[in-house]
Amino acid sequence: MQETVVNTKYWHREADGRLQCDVCPRHCRLREGQRGLCYVRQRLDDEIKLVTYGRSSGFCVDPIEKKPLNHFYPGSSVLSFGTAGCNLACKFCQNWDMTKSREMDTLADSASPERLAEVAEGLGCKSIAYTYNDPIIFLEYAVDIAAACRERGIKSVAVTAGYVDPEPREEFFQAMDATNVDLKAFTDRFYHKICGGHLAPVLETLEYIHKETDAWLETTTLLIPGENDSDEELNQMTQWAVEHLGPDVPMHFSAFHPDWKMLDVPGTPAATLSRARKIAMENGVHFAYTGNVHDSDGGSTWCPGCKQLVIERDWYELGKWQLDEKGACRNCGAEIPGHFEASPGQFGARRVPVRLAR
Ligand code: SF4
Repeated sequence: MQETVVNTKYWHREADGRLQCDVCPRHCRLREGQRGLCYVRQRLDDEIKLVTYGRSSGFCVDPIEKKPLNHFYPGSSVLSFGTAGCNLACKFCQNWDMTKSREMDTLADSASPERLAEVAEGLGCKSIAYTYNDPIIFLEYAVDIAAACRERGIKSVAVTAGYVDPEPREEFFQAMDATNVDLKAFTDRFYHKICGGHLAPVLETLEYIHKETDAWLETTTLLIPGENDSDEELNQMTQWAVEHLGPDVPMHFSAFHPDWKMLDVPGTPAATLSRARKIAMENGVHFAYTGNVHDSDGGSTWCPGCKQLVIERDWYELGKWQLDEKGACRNCGAEIPGHFEASPGQFGARRVPVRLAR
């Protein structure tokens, strides 16, 4: 059995004897035996340890479009997995059975970094995704997996809220090849009231990834009626994105479905997603997408140069492909930012559960 408890390095001792975890801005201060809010980091033997190294809540092969990443090897498959716990407490969480788990038996499957890389390669996956819950909280495991994957040419994809302190942020994102960061809203009110966090560290993470790493970046905002979908907020968010990240970071606006502690809020109308996409593009975002709906216009990639269709998508399914072998628009020759192969992957919209334990 893979060791599940490992030492960590991002913590320090406070004057009152408690140990403060320095992985994320929550800065949990722990006495012996206590766990942080994320539940997977615990003070044991007078150190803060990660107690879920090598454990997973399950593996699945997904299309890369599901992460969502639309400019990172479109049509390819990605071995996706998560663990348990989370460092935010979003009331609308769509994976709350894992993120809010206090039962380690949620972690039914296990795998060493080498085994994961071997399985991803064996399944023909282009990449591996750290997803379902936030990989920041199990960064020691994620970074080791990423290193094992790099040796085999498998890419690493982080799906994260970006709620992380500067030092671990550097170690984590330098190990990643691509990331989709949840930009949950553009008000501190939303982050505080609905997620139990703050906006500023997330914006810092976005700028850091864009300016200081080679990781391909896309963002996702789940639009919740009445909470983060006003014209004013969407204008501020997308203007900030163009100013600080440039026009070429793709932004996804996806539909909320009532879940967890927000069962009383209605689902997002398709018109709201289209409105957000329109606002983003009016503000200069070159690639704005609608998500979690059938919307071929909003899900497809359009050349910012000649406005012609370059990659057709319906949800996770690819259609027409109008990129040349170098990833440029066949019509006008404009280079489309991202990572593309000469032809699209053929994985389709399947979801294939995988069992790794042996
Ligand atoms: S990573 Fe976990 S233990 Fe560390 S500060 Fe964040 S929530 Fe607390």
